[in-house]
Amino acid sequence: ADASARFLAARPKTVALHEAAKAVMPGGNTRTVLFTPPVPIRVAKAEGAHVTDVDGFTYVDLLGEYSAGLYGHSHPRIGRAVGDALAMGLNLGAHHAGEVRLAEAVTRRFDLDLVRFTNSGTEANMMALAAARAFTGRQKIMGIKAGYHGGTLYFGAGGAAVNAPFDVVLAPFNDITATRKLITEHGPALAALIIEPMLGSGGCLPADRAYLEMLREETRKHGIILIFDEVMTSRLAPKGLSHALGITPDLKTLGKYIGGGMSFGAFGGRRDIMEQFDPTRANFLPHAGTFNNNTLTMTVGFAALDEIFTPAACLDLNRRGDRLRERINDLFMRYQVAVQAKGIGSLINIHPLAGEINAPEATAKADPRLRQLLYLDLLEEGYYIAGRGYMALSLVVSDEHCDGFLAALDKVVTKRRHLLTP
Ligand code: PLP
Repeated sequence: ADASARFLAARPKTVALHEAAKAVMPGGNTRTVLFTPPVPIRVAKAEGAHVTDVDGFTYVDLLGEYSAGLYGHSHPRIGRAVGDALAMGLNLGAHHAGEVRLAEAVTRRFDLDLVRFTNSGTEANMMALAAARAFTGRQKIMGIKAGYHGGTLYFGAGGAAVNAPFDVVLAPFNDITATRKLITEHGPALAALIIEPMLGSGGCLPADRAYLEMLREETRKHGIILIFDEVMTSRLAPKGLSHALGITPDLKTLGKYIGGGMSFGAFGGRRDIMEQFDPTRANFLPHAGTFNNNTLTMTVGFAALDEIFTPAACLDLNRRGDRLRERINDLFMRYQVAVQAKGIGSLINIHPLAGEINAPEATAKADPRLRQLLYLDLLEEGYYIAGRGYMALSLVVSDEHCDGFLAALDKVVTKRRHLLTP
């Protein structure tokens, strides 16, 4: 309560804007993930690794737009690419060279036979599922409890409702025996199984390799299309996480940073499944979308992937993330507090919990007041992370920023040790 009161007292403009927002948007909100009590910050300006809120407080941005903000704010190369797109024209109503270039880069990078673009990760997943249903002639989808594939493909965690337009069967993450049993039971009705190889929204919990291998084996056996949602995880290795794990799904979905910061989504993979969208075929699957090949995303995305997020930059960023997570966990161990950081590479989630966590059922047990306190205390120290403890390092987060964050975390843990000790 103290931390909330201090936050509000220092931010009259933030509070006034939230009141105005409430009059026209439910709860003053148009992205539920951004709501943090008592009221969310509202950013006036962002540059490099920093965001400044409407009350003039500047924070190191460790949220990184939930992994889409990979390039940092106002990257000069991104700025030039935006200019190139404007010069070309924004709404062409026609095919152009930009989409070919980006499609070549994306298929090569992520080992896809064929790819199609969308405007968001949500849409990419919806289309991948549609492709699987048409291909198999089956209707049901298997998802993972607490899996997140977009606002309309959300499989419930932390009290939120399942929001999906399909008949879904939900399997428990990383539970080989229970999941195998469910696949066997529903196999003949299942068109697809969709999973994030690391639960992102579910708390940065990596899937066990053996679990993914079992899914690959069982889906193949039952003729189910295996879809890896790599919207968040494709940044974790030069060719994406599934490639690093050596497991090849039938389809992959992509999003976030690949558009260079513009709205982006893509899905692709096996030629025989993707060819259903070929408009020269009889009975092809329709997939229009006014902005699918918009010149802004195509131009900026290509420049960003080709010139900035090179395989070497990817490896370097994820090494920095691994180092930071290790140092965060060392700090928690030193103070013997019931807090731990999960994740892979540049994606990190701090959980106020002790003990082994390898499924979302465990993270759901964390006290939401502790998550909120950690978030507010870090804001006060000048570091912006997600309310749920999630962080996505961008390419402009330096070793100095990481050192500063650890010093801030040390201060917070020292101050709150009595609340964080089991
Ligand atoms: N899939 C995963 C794994 C995600 O993390 C997200 C977004 O956070 C999505 C899909 C949805 O992408 P978008 O927000 O672009 O619709």
